[in-house]
Amino acid sequence: MKFVSTRNHEVSVGFTEAMFNGLAPDGGLYRPEHTPNLSQFFTGLSADVPFNELAADFTTALLGPEISPDIAGNIINDAFTFGPKLREVRDGITVLELFHGPSCAFKDFGASFLASAMNHLLARKSDNNSRAIIVTATSGDTGSAVAQAFHDKDRIDVIILYPSGRVSPLQEKQLTTLGGNVTALEVGGSFDDCQRMAKAAFTDPKLSHLPLSSANSINLGRLIPQSFYYVWAWTRLRSRGDFAFIVPSGNFGNITAGLYAAAWGLPVNRYVAATNANDVVPQYLKTGRYEPRPSLATFSNAMDVGAPSNYERLDDLFSRSVDAFRSHVEAWSVDDETTLETIARVEKENGYLCCPHTAVGWRVAELYREKNPEVPVVVLSTAHPGKFIETVKQATGRTPELPEALFRLMDRKKEAFSVGNGDADLRDWLLGRFG
Ligand SMILES: *Cc1c(COP(=O)(O)O)cnc(C)c1O
Repeated sequence: MKFVSTRNHEVSVGFTEAMFNGLAPDGGLYRPEHTPNLSQFFTGLSADVPFNELAADFTTALLGPEISPDIAGNIINDAFTFGPKLREVRDGITVLELFHGPSCAFKDFGASFLASAMNHLLARKSDNNSRAIIVTATSGDTGSAVAQAFHDKDRIDVIILYPSGRVSPLQEKQLTTLGGNVTALEVGGSFDDCQRMAKAAFTDPKLSHLPLSSANSINLGRLIPQSFYYVWAWTRLRSRGDFAFIVPSGNFGNITAGLYAAAWGLPVNRYVAATNANDVVPQYLKTGRYEPRPSLATFSNAMDVGAPSNYERLDDLFSRSVDAFRSHVEAWSVDDETTLETIARVEKENGYLCCPHTAVGWRVAELYREKNPEVPVVVLSTAHPGKFIETVKQATGRTPELPEALFRLMDRKKEAFSVGNGDADLRDWLLGRFG
């Protein structure tokens, strides 16, 4: 399998190159050059295939021969010490819990696979001392999945930039207490400064001798593994017939992975994006006009995206036709008040506590079922409710428990380097550390 840019279908690269590049040189996003047909692979899966076995075989089916079965097995077993869980919360609504990884959010699936794949593929490069330096900016939540995933990978250094005073205390702990190969830079500036600095480092000629790489959510190495749990969920549910996936969405990476699985032959044809007030895609499907705008702050803040980066992949997948887009995806938006109300109601009626992102999905599941009463739905649950204590408490009056993995961080010591918010501040720091 080769990959091309969404902006230029002529030049193709292998998975390894696409992964280490992150973004294609022309600024586009990588996508498969051809649509593989994996129908036989999917239908041959048993109803109790373990997640890691499915993931390794899927990786080989998709990325072989570049990635051999041996390497795929090693990548998967290092990446996934956790897996998805299905919970039938009420008649017709099943929740696919994706928050049992180290940072308690679904981004652990993508980040863990990427970190493990990079580490194993560096080890295979002809130069035995191949290393990579990951530079990444975070506004809080996404950086912790990356930090956890890359921690202790022996061929990789990770530099995380975060805006001083603008992340929550728990988020700061997640970024600054790992130590080892993970270094946090506390930037005296905004998230936009952090992002601009990281971006500038990649094109800075004074840093061109360093093996810099990124771990952005648009990386193919994060996108592909997100399709594994759609397939896994289908193996468990397919005996019950047709169903729909409801996906809480911000950058639309998660749902893109599901739509790719469908394009590759997974026999599930109903995908519904659930957004908060940042409803650029629902509006696009309604009006046919794609109009990105600045993001609005909501309770489901990991989905506060005004210009979803994977829109470009979806537009490409659907050959730039809004009608084709509409025939594969529905998109609904849920406001903050309804989000709170839903958290409270789901807790009251089902004894199930969900995070604000999952609540957006749950509400859309209800709306979808009003229209399609005979179709069961699977709501992807993207974070542990204990990561959003304030909102969940406001909604239910109940304080959710902080997950054990995060609780342990609270008394660890913060270690971070303070840096200014200029591009040269990051350059000087990198040169001081790596020469
Ligand atoms: C990132 C994130 C989302 C949105 O996922 P996309 O792939 O950006 O659509 C939803 N929920 C949580 C908790 C997240 O961290």
